Amino acid sequence: MSQELYHVVCRDCTTESLRPTREAAAAVADDHAETVDHEVAVGRVH
Ligand SMILES: [Zn+2]
Repeated sequence: MSQELYHVVCRDCTTESLRPTREAAAAVADDHAETVDHEVAVGRVH
C-alpha cells in the first residue's frame, strides 16, 4: 500500500502543511494563495 505525502509551503510567510493527496495539497495552496495573495509551492515528499 503506497502512501503519498505532499508538502505545501508558502514562499511569502511561514505557512506550511502536509497533505496526503495532491488534490488536498493543491486545495490548501490555492486557498492560501487566494486568501492572502502569496506564492505557495507544493512538493511531493514521498
Ligand atoms: Zn503565505
